[in-house]
Amino acid sequence: MKRYLFTVVIIIPALLLPMLTYAKAGVGINRHTITQIDSYNHIVKGLSKKVPVHMDTIKSLLAGRVASIHTMITSSEDQAYESDQQLKADVLRIIIDAGHGGRDPGSAGVSEDEEKLYTLSLSHKIYRLLESESTITPILTRHDDTYLTTEDRVAVANRDQVDIFISLHANSFTNKNTRGTETYYHNSNSIKLADILHEHILQATGFPDRKVRKMDYKVLKETTMPAALLEIGYLSNKVEESIMTSEEMQNKVAASIVEGIKQYIMLEL
Ligand SMILES: [Zn+2]
Repeated sequence: MKRYLFTVVIIIPALLLPMLTYAKAGVGINRHTITQIDSYNHIVKGLSKKVPVHMDTIKSLLAGRVASIHTMITSSEDQAYESDQQLKADVLRIIIDAGHGGRDPGSAGVSEDEEKLYTLSLSHKIYRLLESESTITPILTRHDDTYLTTEDRVAVANRDQVDIFISLHANSFTNKNTRGTETYYHNSNSIKLADILHEHILQATGFPDRKVRKMDYKVLKETTMPAALLEIGYLSNKVEESIMTSEEMQNKVAASIVEGIKQYIMLEL
């Protein structure tokens, strides 16, 4: 914290010091806002020249909404500076939650594939793709085959005030013919996210469309940010299991989820 504030002080004109002192004092400034200042600092450092920043832009940042960084930063003379791609680069934090883990295997596949391993593998692929996006900081709820309670997952999301929460799952059912992709949401602020991700996953898998559904899963109900739970396909169906667990389809699904996330960000954040 001290390190980057010090850097900010060097780079940003003295005009901004009172606001930053305010942020440092933490009065009315939540952690999310602090992160934006951090991101902002990062962006400034990434530019080839120092950029005087209009006070309104800083106020927008401190007001706490990420979208403000997408606006053009202007000089104190209101001269526009280039920035689009670079300054679009505020960091959105996205949780990729690999369902189940440890002593909770989740669904069992026809060929004894376990849901917990499938979701873990897929989560790493999504993580790697998101990592290369300058505008996104991906966060995994688990990095390995660890047991987490639902409460643990919700707590991470709410405590870190992430922008998007995505939980990965694979389905199973006693009727082995049941197949298809389902996407779940609960809170009304999550419908759009669920819709967009669902469309992208369907395109990737070509599986039957089992629709976007509302369900009171804890990870959806108790997380405060847009949240979706993805049931990519049915491990209990022989055809889907073999397709969805293949390396090729996992990569395809991971890419489709990342594209969905990016589209959602563009449209909604
Ligand atoms: Zn599951």
